[in-house]
Amino acid sequence: MKKILTALCGKTPQIVTEALYALHEQGRFPSRVVILTTEEGRELCSTQLLHPEHGRIARLLADIGLNPDSLSVTEADIFTPRRRVADIVTEEDSRAFFELCLETVFSLARDHGTELLFSIAGGRKTMSAALALAAQCYARPQDSMFHVLVPPELESKPDFFYPAPPFAEARVTLTPIPFFRMRGQLQPQLLHSPASLEELSQVCMPQKPLEVELDFVHRSLTCEGRSLALPPALFAVYAFFALEKAVCPDAAELCPHGCRACAHAWADIEPRLGEMLNLYQQVETKALARGTSGILNLSAENFRSSLAKLRKLLVQAFGENIGMRLSIVSERRGGAASYALRIPRGQIRIVPQRCER
Ligand SMILES: [Zn+2]
Repeated sequence: MKKILTALCGKTPQIVTEALYALHEQGRFPSRVVILTTEEGRELCSTQLLHPEHGRIARLLADIGLNPDSLSVTEADIFTPRRRVADIVTEEDSRAFFELCLETVFSLARDHGTELLFSIAGGRKTMSAALALAAQCYARPQDSMFHVLVPPELESKPDFFYPAPPFAEARVTLTPIPFFRMRGQLQPQLLHSPASLEELSQVCMPQKPLEVELDFVHRSLTCEGRSLALPPALFAVYAFFALEKAVCPDAAELCPHGCRACAHAWADIEPRLGEMLNLYQQVETKALARGTSGILNLSAENFRSSLAKLRKLLVQAFGENIGMRLSIVSERRGGAASYALRIPRGQIRIVPQRCER
């Protein structure tokens, strides 16, 4: 079976040659390497690993007595997040890397004739968490995960790439990492295309459904016995998405994650700002908001910042897990981001009851 080393790399490309060396010792040398990294990592991998003569991979092949053609690694085997990520320093960077891992592992695992060897060594800890999560979702029975251990005194040596003079005595150990295989639990539609983190979290952590009450009199949101009163503009944005649930298909099994009916891109929302203003007027009886940041002048940018403020208030009031589930989420698949509330319509109660939508 064709083995593919799927390796993380931060700023030390040696982690890749160390893994290759150890796999060769175990008689499990791969015929392809896929490297998941950042822009900085890509730069280091191409200068240190790839050169067909002086690159460390070519030298490793020569040193262990393998034909130079037995493993060719090119720029096309180095994967980085679609959005330019130099290093992982923000939440957005980390999220982009999670998406990269989910998409890459999803596609690699589609070929049933391969065995994936996941190396979670290298890179920041968020990167290891991302690759491990992707493997848990998509790994098949033949796939495996490991961490690479090298003696501590060699970890910081920039010229140690694998045991060879002057480090011929060094040992590189691959330690297997056990993990749960969720692939068999995924609904078939989640194996047709790469799923978002939100979709997968529904499957991997089945949780008690949330019942939400949206109160137009008190401008509040109540869930799990706790209430949060919202500023009028944020309440209007939230109510807009809650009322959108009316268009969800009746048997909306998918509504908590994949439903398209209640998800909208900014281009669909902008022409409907009048509806949001209408909701605003129902809860703000004083003068209309003045200034350019008011609900009357919502732009794509301050719409996104409203969603961020909402999420912050929800997390403060309900905790990270429930707060995030109650938030208006943005999902990006290919084109523009679309926004939706992922609570099915049967679990949302609007008070006082409304006869129109
Ligand atoms: Zn829906």
